Amino acid sequence: MQIKRLRLSGFKSFVDPADLRIEPGLTGIVGPNGCGKSNLLEALRWTMGETSARSLRGAGMEDVIFAGTATRPQRDFAEVSMLLETDDAEETEVVRRIERGAGSAYRIDGRDVRAKNVGLLFADAATGAHSPALVSQNRIGAVIAARPAERRAMLEEAAGIAGLHVRRRDAEAK
Ligand code: ATP
Ligand code: MG
Repeated sequence: MQIKRLRLSGFKSFVDPADLRIEPGLTGIVGPNGCGKSNLLEALRWTMGETSARSLRGAGMEDVIFAGTATRPQRDFAEVSMLLETDDAEETEVVRRIERGAGSAYRIDGRDVRAKNVGLLFADAATGAHSPALVSQNRIGAVIAARPAERRAMLEEAAGIAGLHVRRRDAEAK
């Protein structure tokens, strides 16, 4: 699976709609302190279903919505769209949107879906909001210090079998 495009609107410092094409190969994001590099990574994780506001450096999930500056009013929603190319060369668009006071909603290819569907889509592609491939600033130490069970979960996710565990738990609960 490959991310081909990222569109942000009202997400953190990306108040105006931003459209980023991601070419095959290695992509580097450079810029001065505070320009939004980490926010971009957080936009990826958020769209993939991150549920922890703290790991997005916020107190509550609505903190991802543009909070306003001295010259610009706050926004009442944030939306991020990821265009993916799956391994069978199909394109899939995943959108997450949050509105103040109304919570989050997800769409896959224009259809309303639950967070779980988005989680499974990424788990099957061996990625996701908690993928060990996404290492936040200052979090390398956490990978090194992980307990064996946590490290096993990281390896299972990297190996692409995390989605199977979700389905097994589901099946056992029925
Ligand atoms: P560094 O090089 O220091 O790691 P960075 O490029 O990773 O910097 P970010 O941490 O992505 O920068 O961006 C921080 C900026 O985003 C800050 O200016 C902060 O005020 C702004 N920001 C974060 N959340 C919001 C929000 N909800 N509304 C408006 N601005 C926000
Ligand atoms: Mg940063």
